[in-house]
Amino acid sequence: METSQEWETVIGLEIHTQLATKSKIFSGAATAYGAEPNTQACAVDLGLPGVLPVLNEQAVTMAVKFGLAIEAEIAPYSVFARKNYFYPDLPKGYQISQFELPIVGNGHLDIDVDGTTKRIGITRAHLEEDAGKSLHENFHGMSGIDLNRAGTPLLEIVSEPEMRSAKEAVAYMRKIHELVRYLGICDGNMQEGSFRCDANVSVRPLGQQQFGTRAEIKNINSFKFVEKAINHEVERQIELIENGGKVVQETRLYDSVKDETRSMRSKEEANDYRYFPDPDLLPVFISEEFKSQIKAQLPELPNARKQRFREQYQLDDENAGILTASRQLADYFEFVVNESACEAKLCANWITGDLVAALNKADLDITESPVNTQRLAGLLLRINDNTISGKIAKQVFELMWQSSSTADEIIAEKGLKQITDSGAIETIIDKIIADNPDQVEQYLSGKDKVFAFFVGQVMKEMQGKANPAEVNKMLKAKLK
Ligand code: ADP
Ligand code: MG
Repeated sequence: METSQEWETVIGLEIHTQLATKSKIFSGAATAYGAEPNTQACAVDLGLPGVLPVLNEQAVTMAVKFGLAIEAEIAPYSVFARKNYFYPDLPKGYQISQFELPIVGNGHLDIDVDGTTKRIGITRAHLEEDAGKSLHENFHGMSGIDLNRAGTPLLEIVSEPEMRSAKEAVAYMRKIHELVRYLGICDGNMQEGSFRCDANVSVRPLGQQQFGTRAEIKNINSFKFVEKAINHEVERQIELIENGGKVVQETRLYDSVKDETRSMRSKEEANDYRYFPDPDLLPVFISEEFKSQIKAQLPELPNARKQRFREQYQLDDENAGILTASRQLADYFEFVVNESACEAKLCANWITGDLVAALNKADLDITESPVNTQRLAGLLLRINDNTISGKIAKQVFELMWQSSSTADEIIAEKGLKQITDSGAIETIIDKIIADNPDQVEQYLSGKDKVFAFFVGQVMKEMQGKANPAEVNKMLKAKLK
């Protein structure tokens, strides 16, 4: 069907972050990932009769940290509620969550998309426990249940429906990911499920005030999938409406193999969770004093750090953004600047360029970098004092990556020291000029481009070790 109708996308995200506490939210069992099934599930996690949950203070502290970082209202009084539903990996028959009185209220986060900053409202963030896992492989027609994850603390962060494209949704999700890792409250590991999201998506005719009916796509655990799932869902909804159909409120699943979303359950089939305050748990009171203690411990946050990097080190927006996207990378950069005392721009270019590229290629995190801050600083010092050119430095860097040698050791061992001795350079230049009379004539008759040929020849002859500035200067003087 042909149509000129323009559509606007509306997206709200519910992000589940696993809080990086050592023990569970209501029990003393460990939260470490990857243990043998059911070795980290105590009586509380198994939901045995007669046990009582005890709130982990660390989880509360982390939730408050997050709340303060998004400039949210921290509830002075919040309450845990039972969310009742039946599922084999939920032995109690209810999940302990928060409903009417969540710990974190209204806050916001700024995202950057296509060079503009947009503020996204965060409706709330609440504490809850995770469920266990059903295992469907190798059980010969039955399912296995692993309750290691049961009781792991989660902070569910609910946004306002204020994103208008998949791109904005991804930018927001990345920003939250960056923030929770900065705060040290979540390891951000998406493969292990420590950070995942549900995307609520609807469309409406451009200009219409009222929201369209939304579908909720459950449990997406990669930035790439969020983008794809949303784009697909938007297309599906538009096509449906344009063909005279109606979007129904439902839960859908994204299938990354088929790259499509499909219905899981409709609103009619949706559970009635019969929320009510959990009588086993006391309300949580947060004092002003507790809040200010936590506030004092907050690290410098990504946006503030990015701004400082731009001002203090005169970095451009892109480099400042890349460097502050992770706290560890930003720390790395500042160490290198301090250690090398080189120009910040040189340090930033090397880190965001060669180092990040090498890390990506080897699929390593900055904390696992084979070249530490001291060794990189050592290399930059030698560029700075003209011992080596930027080009040779790339070779040295590669050798450093593969060994534990310092830049100085490699430069000495491989004889890479730049030749600044003008006598040596002059000898070579004279030879190249004598060997290439045609090119000399071309150059002298106005073909400026031939100059690069001479630079190239000299550099080649000197195995790249000549100081390029010196070569340029002397060639200019000779070719007259
Ligand atoms: P529920 O109680 O069903 O979970 P909420 O009101 O808590 O619904 O909203 C859940 C998420 O859905 C929020 O992130 C919210 O921003 C988003 N949302 C609500 N309405 C819409 C809509 N029409 N289109 C897109 N997202 C929406
Ligand atoms: Mg919800």
